[in-house]
Amino acid sequence: MARVYRFMEVCGTHTVNFFRFGLRKLLPPEVELVSGPGCPVCVMPPEEVDFLVEVARKPGVVVCAFGDLLKVPGSKGSLREVRAQGGGVRLIYSPMEAVHLAASEPEKKIVLAGVGFETTAPAHAVALLEARKRRLRNFFFFSALRIMPPPLRALLSDPELALDGLLLPGHVSAVIGSRPYTFIAEEFGLPGVITGFEPRDMLEGLARLLELARSGRPTIEIQYRRVVTPEGNPWGKRLLKEVFRPVDGRWRGLGLIPGSKLALAPDFEEFSAEKTFSLEPKPLPEPPGCACGKILRGQKRPPECPLFGKRCTPETPYGPCMVSSEGACAAYFRFAESENP
Ligand code: SF4
Repeated sequence: MARVYRFMEVCGTHTVNFFRFGLRKLLPPEVELVSGPGCPVCVMPPEEVDFLVEVARKPGVVVCAFGDLLKVPGSKGSLREVRAQGGGVRLIYSPMEAVHLAASEPEKKIVLAGVGFETTAPAHAVALLEARKRRLRNFFFFSALRIMPPPLRALLSDPELALDGLLLPGHVSAVIGSRPYTFIAEEFGLPGVITGFEPRDMLEGLARLLELARSGRPTIEIQYRRVVTPEGNPWGKRLLKEVFRPVDGRWRGLGLIPGSKLALAPDFEEFSAEKTFSLEPKPLPEPPGCACGKILRGQKRPPECPLFGKRCTPETPYGPCMVSSEGACAAYFRFAESENP
């Protein structure tokens, strides 16, 4: 029997696009793909959702959040429910919208919910710099921003995962470059290919990953060369360094990971939503029965969760992996019929 190579597609957009473009049907039987932790709202622990829900219920407060986050259930409901009950929740498409809102409604406290990885963090940094420039006293920031390399180290340290390589995220890498991944090759002896999002990119990246794994060459390569360089984007990296600092952070399914979250740098702490509202998110257990944690660790496939497609659907999500369009459960639910058996 042919040896099976087990690769993790780290990024949620890759997970969805393998289904959307029908690429999974083209994969040879020797390739097994497992989903990784690259969906920002899926990896938010429940206490972070609860923090935002609690703040949004306060009079005179408006929480500004991207669409996916609104539906994520915490232990006290979701931001969508708070909004339906008349609470202060605003759907935004750019962090700068929250700054404009704070400037135009000075009697309200505006809280920007910062969610995403290194890809979206620079846009949040720009919003914070603008708020400081305008001397806004009613603009606050809650960070659920996370950094991608530390969870990869945590995952690869788990001997049960047994991966043969990683398809690495194109957009995160456009900011950080390829160098932060060298530990994957040097410490874990695995190859990784930073890959774009068009069908051709993904097939090319996967084919190269298979080639490297087959020939036993642990190295990090860039397939997405039109966007990613080894050094990354100096402007984006400078913004992150100026506005944020890395701190230990809890990830759903992965627990506490050193240096994996972006908190406000000391010069920006005046914007801290936690300090303003004297609330500190306390670790909470995950929803009972939800296998999201195991899915994010590549230990289970979504259809193996007993709630998949029954109690948990994109319309009525029980766990976060069913909420986001980049969530593995939502992708399997939408495209399951096109998957290889
Ligand atoms: S199907 Fe729903 S309950 Fe099951 S793991 Fe996915 S998100 Fe969690």
